[in-house]
Amino acid sequence: MPIATVNPANGETLKTYEAMGAEEIERRLQLAEATFRTYRTTSFVDRGRLLLQAANLLEEDQQDVARMMTTEMGKPVKQARAEAAKCVKAMRWYAERAEELLADEEPPDSDVKDSNASRVRVRYRPLGPILAVMPWNFPLWQVVRFAAPALMAGNVGLLKHASNVPQTALYIEDLFHRAGYTEGCFQTLLIGSGQVDEVLRDERVRAATLTGSEPAGRAVASTAGEMIKKTVLELGGSDPYVVMPSADLDRAAQVAVTARVQNTGQSCIAAKRFIVHTDVYDAFAERFVEGMKALVVGDPMLEETDVGPLSSEKGRADLEELVDDARRSGADVLCGGHQFRRPELPGWYYAPTVIAGITREMRIHREEAFGPVATLYRAGDLDEAVLIANDSPFGLSSNVWTRDEAEVDRFVRDLEAGSVFVNGMTASHPAFPFGGVKRSGYGRELSGHGIREFCNITTVWHG
Ligand code: NDP
Repeated sequence: MPIATVNPANGETLKTYEAMGAEEIERRLQLAEATFRTYRTTSFVDRGRLLLQAANLLEEDQQDVARMMTTEMGKPVKQARAEAAKCVKAMRWYAERAEELLADEEPPDSDVKDSNASRVRVRYRPLGPILAVMPWNFPLWQVVRFAAPALMAGNVGLLKHASNVPQTALYIEDLFHRAGYTEGCFQTLLIGSGQVDEVLRDERVRAATLTGSEPAGRAVASTAGEMIKKTVLELGGSDPYVVMPSADLDRAAQVAVTARVQNTGQSCIAAKRFIVHTDVYDAFAERFVEGMKALVVGDPMLEETDVGPLSSEKGRADLEELVDDARRSGADVLCGGHQFRRPELPGWYYAPTVIAGITREMRIHREEAFGPVATLYRAGDLDEAVLIANDSPFGLSSNVWTRDEAEVDRFVRDLEAGSVFVNGMTASHPAFPFGGVKRSGYGRELSGHGIREFCNITTVWHG
């Protein structure tokens, strides 16, 4: 894939970039390593000051950066602004909390005595240059979610961003430089995916984090495994959204629409499979389909737009294939199911779609639908709802709607996912761990868990 900005709203190529060659990559790796040697010794106060400055600059840039993201990957501009605001919040959160999250830990006295020590401490030290391979769907947030904790921990970052968001990738590098970070603290590598392997094998790169598809995750994790390097993987999801009879149905259906089509449906934590108890299935389906039909699909630069184009022509073709496969195998398309065409909107649009009558043989049952397409399942009881929910290779997040506390306990006990959202839609927050199980990946981002992933957890024993 060429490194280029291609506007998904009209298919126009706006800017293309040459991939960096071996010499430039080497220069950047050297700089990362040299910078780490001094940056690792800086105080939390100094690091926090820099990150707060980056947050302030991003806040000032919010309008412009939102329009840039919309131009590069097509998300509705109001959602792009919200993404920038979320990044500002996460930067401030880590700037203020990192010292406390990484404070030395002291084991209980009895264990210290048992080890014949006078004192034992556990210290979180940085690892070194960390490679971040990131996707286009939240082009700013995915990077900040990595960079804010990594920089506060004393690591330095190397970003390989998705090839379709080069302007955002360069903007982030520039943002950190303008905030006062020395050049080697955070660098963008404008490289294609084929060049990742060599960078990851380099001894100076100490660990990697990847957000993206399963094949990309597998490639990076394999190389990292060979090189004995730590990885965090945040891969796809096909999150269940379970609705039980005691739920507030109006609210559950209204939130379901947002949960499915946020970011034009291209979100790993979007609810994708709607599993509804048979007693409320028809009532929920009617409300949900109405909500999906009422969405405003159109130019992502317009404020009123709910659903923009998909980020690429291939992304739309992949989604269309999944829907067509289900239709051919007997699924009922309750709304949408076709490209959204208007002469004045030549971009890669797909109509908000709801499909029912899903069977295990259909690809959409097991694969991630990365666009505004929802699948509806009918469950006879809670046990069946859990069975359907867990019948997926993924396990990122999950949503349950019920007012019955015993049911909540069952779902929390049994759902195979990295989070359970009760009577609400999944959203990430800097204070809470984020990540999945099964093929959704491993490790956690955000919170204290996230910042500790790329630390050398050091035991300091005093005789
Ligand atoms: P990819 O996983 O291909 O891209 C994500 C990042 O990984 C990009 O920076 C990409 O670089 C890089 N990459 C891709 N292949 C490799 C490789 N073999 N080795 C190293 N790095 C690699 O996502 P796509 O854009 O192709 O989307 C495909 C599907 O992935 C989606 O339909 C969705 O199911 C899933 N996805 C999930 C996301 C999530 O948030 N969990 C985000 C994006 C996609 P480059 O752009 O240069 O190829």
